Amino acid sequence: EAKKKANFINMQIDADLAAGKNDKRVHTRFPPEPNGYLHIGHAKSICLNFGLAQQYGGKTNLRFDDTNPSKEETEYVESIMEDVHWLGFDWEDRLYYASDFFPKLHAFAIQLIKAGKAYVDDQNAETISSQKGTPQKPGVESPYRNRTVEENLDLFDRMTAGEFNEGEKVLRAKIDMTSPNMHMRDPIIYRIMKAHHHRTGDKWCVYPMYDFAHGQCDYWEGITHSICTLEFEVHRPLYDWFIDQLKDSDYRPRQIEFARLNLTYTVMSKRKLLELVKDGHVNGWDDPRMPTISGLRRRGYTPESIRNFSDKIGVTKVDGMIDVSLLEFSVREHLNKTAQRVMGVINPLKVVITNYPEDLVEELDAVNNPEDETMGMRKVPFTRELYIERDDFMEDPPRKFFRLGPGREVRLRYAYFVTCTDVIKDENGEITELHCTYDPASKGGNSPDGRKVKATLHWVSATHGVKSEVRLYDRLFNDEDPNGHKDVDFKEFMNPDSLSVLSDCYLEPFIKDSKPLDHFQFERLGYFNMDPDSTPEKPVFNRTVALRDSWAK
Ligand code: ATP
Ligand code: MG
Ligand code: MG
Repeated sequence: EAKKKANFINMQIDADLAAGKNDKRVHTRFPPEPNGYLHIGHAKSICLNFGLAQQYGGKTNLRFDDTNPSKEETEYVESIMEDVHWLGFDWEDRLYYASDFFPKLHAFAIQLIKAGKAYVDDQNAETISSQKGTPQKPGVESPYRNRTVEENLDLFDRMTAGEFNEGEKVLRAKIDMTSPNMHMRDPIIYRIMKAHHHRTGDKWCVYPMYDFAHGQCDYWEGITHSICTLEFEVHRPLYDWFIDQLKDSDYRPRQIEFARLNLTYTVMSKRKLLELVKDGHVNGWDDPRMPTISGLRRRGYTPESIRNFSDKIGVTKVDGMIDVSLLEFSVREHLNKTAQRVMGVINPLKVVITNYPEDLVEELDAVNNPEDETMGMRKVPFTRELYIERDDFMEDPPRKFFRLGPGREVRLRYAYFVTCTDVIKDENGEITELHCTYDPASKGGNSPDGRKVKATLHWVSATHGVKSEVRLYDRLFNDEDPNGHKDVDFKEFMNPDSLSVLSDCYLEPFIKDSKPLDHFQFERLGYFNMDPDSTPEKPVFNRTVALRDSWAK
């Protein structure tokens, strides 16, 4: 794996350790909200949080940030756990849910009320936000700001008991309506929500706001470094304010922000990904075109390739866009070293070797992976009738086309030299098959007289080939930044040709023994993996990535 480079997060942790902070512990957490499947941006955060703990001999918690019951589901919780494990990380016995802390958070809210630092506001969210002011202009104090502690306790109690409707009352922290930081202007900390929670059921009808839950969960879990994305930088004074109210020792978690990962040609917010799923623009969260971890897995990405990608891009303090070809490079690099090679023809043209005996089947030797000798050899059946790629033949080839044409000789990989003698067409002029002759002396791919050929083609026996479906993918969006257009919905930039299904493909018999998610290189065509849709009658393969970056100049 790529060497991890020291970055500003390492420097902060090193400084904290050198100063003896928090008993010199390093304890991070990955805190997803279970409101969708994880995407490659989350993978970055997972690799970062678990990676730092590994680097410093520390620990990492998995915490479900389940404070918003209206969007959260158990299905998401399960997929998130599967994805973290698949990426190669383990939280062991450190699984937490923010909802487990609901009683403590509620008690802390009461503590704030008693200290005169929180109050119940009867105004609706709209009015409250209209009173917030601007960074230059102080906000307007709520007429309910100076309620007595007793009144606040009573009202919060009744909010908790379900006496009021959603939106009728909120609990706000009483901080500073003149603060230059808008988040410090009496933020809402509890709201009424009469929604069923996927874990606590109907027990609660008040729920803590994200800002009120997050830092406190960090605190109770003993987190030392709470790493989040840049948009939370402005929340940090509030994070610290709550910790100040809670703190009863020298220990305190530190929030550190880094720039979120954005990738070209895709979108990465769960809300938008959910929209693509719900409206049927893709075939589910694990559609191989999705930037989700489950989509990448199904596409044929390996955990190693995603971890290497994450290390390579590093962390920064400036929002930017990473070219998706870097992610593709990582998987190509890993699969080149590890993937079983096979021959597969995805756009078949039949070839009859007219001078080859009709019933003969020769088992020829093929290399499983030229990058890894330990993967050994396999046998590939050669017969009189074969398939080659339609693109590998041209009836009237231009000067730079070196593959097969009438009267031309090429090498069939691991097999023989063949020469095209006849082109057979149907009544519409479509080429239906080629007739070739082979040179028996060129077995294995070299001719004893030292004759050279300019091309080596892959092929599959027409009688032994396994008929399969192959799915080729292109970018899901035609635009580098589908989100970057004012007044134009991101879906306007969807690529209508992002999926091509080829149903008449032939693979060498070796693939009969494979199982879903097994990786292959189809020689000359790219890296593929077997799709879970496969049946013994119809194996299905996804192209993970082509052998070369066809987008690069
Ligand atoms: P989104 O809406 O894009 O899914 P989110 O921040 O609402 O993002 P969470 O479930 O809250 O999603 O995220 C869990 C963790 O993953 C957070 O710590 C968050 O900062 C981090 N994270 C989310 N998206 C990215 C990203 N694109 N790059 C890096 N980290 C990310
Ligand atoms: Mg979030
Ligand atoms: Mg979100």
